[in-house]
Amino acid sequence: MITFRVRCMNIIDQKSLLTRKNDEKDSATICELRHIVKVYHGAQTPAVRDLNLTIRDGEFLTLLGPSGSGKTTTLMMLAGFERPSEGQILLKGEDITYVAPHKRGLGVVFQSYALFPHMSVFENVAFPLSVRGVNKADISSRVNRTLEVVKLAALADRQPRQLSGGQQQRVALARALVFDPPVVLMDEPLGALDRQLREHMQIEISRLHRDLGVTVIYVTHDQDEALTMSDRVAVFNGGLVRQLSSPKELYDHPNDEFVARFVGENNNIEGTVAAVEGGGRCRVLLADGTPVRAMGMPTLVEGAAVFVSLRPERVHCGVPAAEGGFNVLKGTVSDVVFRGDHVRLSVLTPSVGELNARIPRADLREDLVQGAEIDVHWSASQCLAIPQTGSIA
Ligand code: ADP
Repeated sequence: MITFRVRCMNIIDQKSLLTRKNDEKDSATICELRHIVKVYHGAQTPAVRDLNLTIRDGEFLTLLGPSGSGKTTTLMMLAGFERPSEGQILLKGEDITYVAPHKRGLGVVFQSYALFPHMSVFENVAFPLSVRGVNKADISSRVNRTLEVVKLAALADRQPRQLSGGQQQRVALARALVFDPPVVLMDEPLGALDRQLREHMQIEISRLHRDLGVTVIYVTHDQDEALTMSDRVAVFNGGLVRQLSSPKELYDHPNDEFVARFVGENNNIEGTVAAVEGGGRCRVLLADGTPVRAMGMPTLVEGAAVFVSLRPERVHCGVPAAEGGFNVLKGTVSDVVFRGDHVRLSVLTPSVGELNARIPRADLREDLVQGAEIDVHWSASQCLAIPQTGSIA
């Protein structure tokens, strides 16, 4: 019979878990992927290439990337359902590369809830404890406590088919948390839910992560989800991590063209570096010779082909220019789309074609209508010149 080491806690004790989180905040490494390569049988190219990733105890780390970029493969190797072709996986300093999934003691939640249809909610959540040989009294108290944490205590006797999608996903969460795993792995857990429920569950999962202090490794292709929920995000493309940083850093300072294009919406204005200036700035000539100023990556050199990455919310419309004549383009409003709390404005400029702006409703002036001739303007400190590499999502 399989034996599992059960942690001493009889129930999920939120208080002690909270203490654990505060004491060890950001300090320890809980899990490490070292030089991981995965080549599936018969595949021409690796699904994951030389992946190095250190996961901190208690953090919410999201693996974000387009379909086929290697996120699920990475998670499956962490879970033990796939074996790396090369490299090493460490959990709390121990090599688990070839340890069977059930012996790793990790919680796993998939998009398909994978609940046992013939078992009640209680029995589903109790399952990981029963197989670990926990006694009945402890099972009962731990399951009840966990069902309270995920707000399902009133539905303990129901069967999965009697629950909504969101409730079923909460059962799956409870089942992954009930045995107090050090790490919970989640693969697109909200992918099957409608938008409203997904947003609600994002808040729920964030709350659970915060309250329980458990480490979460979360896979999604949804950048909003990644930016809202994570402490750090690893952006995958082609089996490589292109950037690993906080959501804010990712949004404000993408490492390269791929990340800039994949994370958040952008205007990407092509140009050539005319001069590298002080203060991290550079002067870029657009295709029609118009000069603009932007923040430049440290590696930029004169003559480099770049695009100037400019978020729509940084574009000001019709506001007098304040950059000494730089970063002002003339244009005509081609489209105005109402989006509830903001308006999306498309402005056709002779210089660079269409630029998109996002204007909060409160700042929308009446003269910003389709056909209006306006200036668009942005600050040099709020746009980034990124070398063109052709690596498009
Ligand atoms: P993601 O989760 O980012 O969508 P995956 O990790 O599922 O990406 O896939 C990465 C690459 O590995 C893709 O090219 C995919 O087709 C391939 N792949 C995934 N699973 C298998 C498998 N079981 N056998 C062969 N190739 C696979």
